[in-house]
Amino acid sequence: MDTIWADMRTGIDTSLMEKAGSILRSGGLVAFPTETVYGLGADALDPEASGKIYSAKGRPSDNPLIVHIHRLDSLGKIARHVPEQASVLAEAFWPGPLTMILDKSDQVPHSVTGGLDTVAIRMPDHPVALALIEAGGGFIAAPSANTSGRPSPTTAQHVRDDLNGKIDMIIDGGSVGIGVESTIIDLTEEPPMVLRPGFISIDMLRNVLGDVRMDPGLHGEDPSFRPKAPGMKYRHYAPKAELTIVEGSESNVRAAIDRLAREAISRGQTCGIIAADEDASSYQAGIVRSAGSRAKEITISQHLFGILREFDDLGVDVIYSESFDTPQIGAAIMNRLIKAAGHHILSV
Ligand code: AMP
Ligand code: MG
Repeated sequence: MDTIWADMRTGIDTSLMEKAGSILRSGGLVAFPTETVYGLGADALDPEASGKIYSAKGRPSDNPLIVHIHRLDSLGKIARHVPEQASVLAEAFWPGPLTMILDKSDQVPHSVTGGLDTVAIRMPDHPVALALIEAGGGFIAAPSANTSGRPSPTTAQHVRDDLNGKIDMIIDGGSVGIGVESTIIDLTEEPPMVLRPGFISIDMLRNVLGDVRMDPGLHGEDPSFRPKAPGMKYRHYAPKAELTIVEGSESNVRAAIDRLAREAISRGQTCGIIAADEDASSYQAGIVRSAGSRAKEITISQHLFGILREFDDLGVDVIYSESFDTPQIGAAIMNRLIKAAGHHILSV
């Protein structure tokens, strides 16, 4: 199939947006920018349309999709009931990078929820996304617009690299603002439980809800706890290279990475290094990429997935990354990085 490229970097193109809406309403697939990562959208209330998402991405069918809405009163149509906590969170964080799990209504097909009786819902904070959801009928199922297992796309070009020819349209809205997927909070648990860390931190959630806990399955060290979000159990965000995270005092980390990079290069390997702006210039060996500044943590989340993709393109064999345990987004950054590393962490 020919994939239409729609450039909306400088604003919404009304006729292309109408086209995008009609593609969605007739059961097609449109990739679009959000403030977190690019999403791959289909009509969430049409089981056949959302089924196409799974085949385009190669996504396991038990991994449910997030339904995107553009107005608050849409919640009542897809949630069986809307608890007070959902209204409080929507007031505080929507539109924004927070997904809520609620009991689903009969309107939501089980193919969208991976067979579960709950549904994940989010209102994204991006003008192109909101216009597209409205044009497409108001309920757009959209996981990240990557091939399953690859790092999530933070530019329209990343989407094209993975899905060109497999979907109907790609809307280019430029680089995304946050760069890691939304925080997921499960409101069917008491107290509410974070299933995936994101830009909205657990402290921000506690400030409005009171008691909130982290899914004990997220850390992945203890196999008796499985993550509750089906998608969190897969090796995800994985680069082709072997990735090791190095943690410890800043000077120890710099010395260790420099030594490991030299050793890798002397073995004939191509070595990538992921560093903070503050340290990048201290590395003399390897392909050094600066993720961003520890003093401006969002610059790190914005660039992380793009760097992993670039290292794939460059044919890098091994990657050494600094650790980025920054105050707000650090939990999300490290969750993605640790999964990309297959839990391979070196303490120095
Ligand atoms: P993605 O949109 O690709 O970032 O993936 C959506 C994430 O939300 C995956 O990790 C899913 O497993 C998770 N998710 C979606 N719906 C549910 C649900 N009803 N219960 C738990 N997790 C969900
Ligand atoms: Mg994804």
